[in-house]
Amino acid sequence: LIILNEVAQAQNLDLAKASSSKDRKVPLPLYRNIGIMAHIDAGKTTTTERILYYTGKSYKIGEVHEGGATMDWMEQEKERGITITSAATTCAWRDHRINIIDTPGHVDFTLEVERSLRVLDGAVAVFDGVAGVEPQTETVWRQADKYKVPRMCFLNKMDRTGANFYFCVDTIVEMLGATPAVLQLPIGTESDFLGVIDLVTQEAVVWKGEDLGASFERIPLDQCNDEPLVDDALKAKAKEWREKLIELAVEQDEDALMEYLEGVEPDVETLKKLIRKGTLNLSFVPVITGTAFKNKGVQPLLDAVVDYLPSPVDVEAIKGVKEDSDEPIVRLSSDAEPFSALAFKVANDPFVGSLTFTRIYSGTMEAGTSVYNSVKGKNERIGRMLEMHANERTEIKSAVAGDIVALVGLKDTTTGETLCDKDNAVILEKMDFPEPVIKVAVEPKTKADQQKMSEALIRLAAEDPSFRFSRDEETGQTIIEGMGELHLEIIVDRMMREFKVEANVGAPQVSYREAITAKAEVDYTHKKQSGGSGQYARVKIIFEPKEFSEEEGAMDFEFASDIKGGSVPKEY
Ligand code: GDP
Repeated sequence: LIILNEVAQAQNLDLAKASSSKDRKVPLPLYRNIGIMAHIDAGKTTTTERILYYTGKSYKIGEVHEGGATMDWMEQEKERGITITSAATTCAWRDHRINIIDTPGHVDFTLEVERSLRVLDGAVAVFDGVAGVEPQTETVWRQADKYKVPRMCFLNKMDRTGANFYFCVDTIVEMLGATPAVLQLPIGTESDFLGVIDLVTQEAVVWKGEDLGASFERIPLDQCNDEPLVDDALKAKAKEWREKLIELAVEQDEDALMEYLEGVEPDVETLKKLIRKGTLNLSFVPVITGTAFKNKGVQPLLDAVVDYLPSPVDVEAIKGVKEDSDEPIVRLSSDAEPFSALAFKVANDPFVGSLTFTRIYSGTMEAGTSVYNSVKGKNERIGRMLEMHANERTEIKSAVAGDIVALVGLKDTTTGETLCDKDNAVILEKMDFPEPVIKVAVEPKTKADQQKMSEALIRLAAEDPSFRFSRDEETGQTIIEGMGELHLEIIVDRMMREFKVEANVGAPQVSYREAITAKAEVDYTHKKQSGGSGQYARVKIIFEPKEFSEEEGAMDFEFASDIKGGSVPKEY
């Protein structure tokens, strides 16, 4: 059922035609729909903010945190220091259009991660340069594996005391089982971190200016005679790591491999192409480094996004089924295909009300027209369409394949539903929403608020498919269910803030266990890793002999709770 766009191209899909709509401003191969994923506190927000700064118009560092902007705009997110929403922000770099799809870092919101992974084509994993791979990185990494998302790693916080680039690279191998393609080495660490060696171009990239990292110099390594810290030892190290990189890269192409074996190294452009190929086919993950906070390394990060992460035509075409049958349909990323789009996030916006974030996979969508929600079987009128930037929203008249836009005021469409052309209806691959794992009873503090609370719950459940509510027949209480305690706390908080309903909350109870067939011992005292502020537990799973074969050594598993993915070490 899977048709690669590459295959489609071989079968005469004309790329020019794929990018031919009169409404198109940026050719489809120049789109990068990416997510930035990280363990909480690794620096996702800071990195995103710097990206928006360097790509941006008149925009100051710090604005994102100060509110009014697209990312992190919900008040409680700021208060709690976590990112819940999955908003998307559009920016531009080297003629490319980059849509950054926000992915949350907290374990209670793996569902949010899941739904954002659904609509992005590539991802940047941000690591704390002291801690390396942390529990949530692992969780998100497994989810990205599941959706076959090509990705790269940004080893952030190289300025921190204890930062260790090489240790972090090791954790990528040991804890994620990934093959790192190291593209940069740090020049100095901690307070001496000055920049990076670009192993691809063999240049030292150093930030010297007092302009918040806006300017930097690229100096060919063989001309680095007086550059601080770029000594013979580092140059020798760079040579060694470049060799490793080339060995990995030439595996991607038989001709390049043959030439290399005969002693001919690929030139810089060829090397970049090989790295791109290996990244897209998931052979390895490019690794680069820097410090977002100290404004070093972010522009090369953007270059790497453009050079190595996929455009919509580099990934598998989106699959779906016909409206009234299970007959499969594939929608190629193309202007020439009938319109199809997926709603991946409904958010209550303080300025315009309900916003439905939508990724367009094929065709064109125009403001003021009707589209068809194939899941509900209803027409939806597209009123206003917004493109979200760092510090402004642009109203647009049309959106094309590859775009991510926010639709204002849709009536019936919720997360995961398909909008399409009625005559060519398709239901795009559905997202899996896990069952809630925890429940609490809630009641309004004042009886008169009962009606208001019901309305709030209906609204919140429409935004968030992992949240449910019901009435307990025996006690008459209202029960709310969600993905974790924090998730439900936030729901109660939102009821108060947005709907002015104060509620009393009962003790949480685990509500869903059926899917866990193995016995699990949970050690909540497990020491959390440095840098993080979430709660972690070490979970030991004891499989019954009939479910676990000694020979296999390890098996993949998935939890039906808010902890997902991983592989079971043999001793467990
Ligand atoms: P998020 O939870 O992943 O979004 O992390 P944030 O971007 O909010 O960063 C968490 C904390 O780490 C904040 O206090 C940042 O100022 C700090 N931080 C982010 N990047 C760096 C960095 O490169 N170096 C240092 N020293 N601190 C950083």
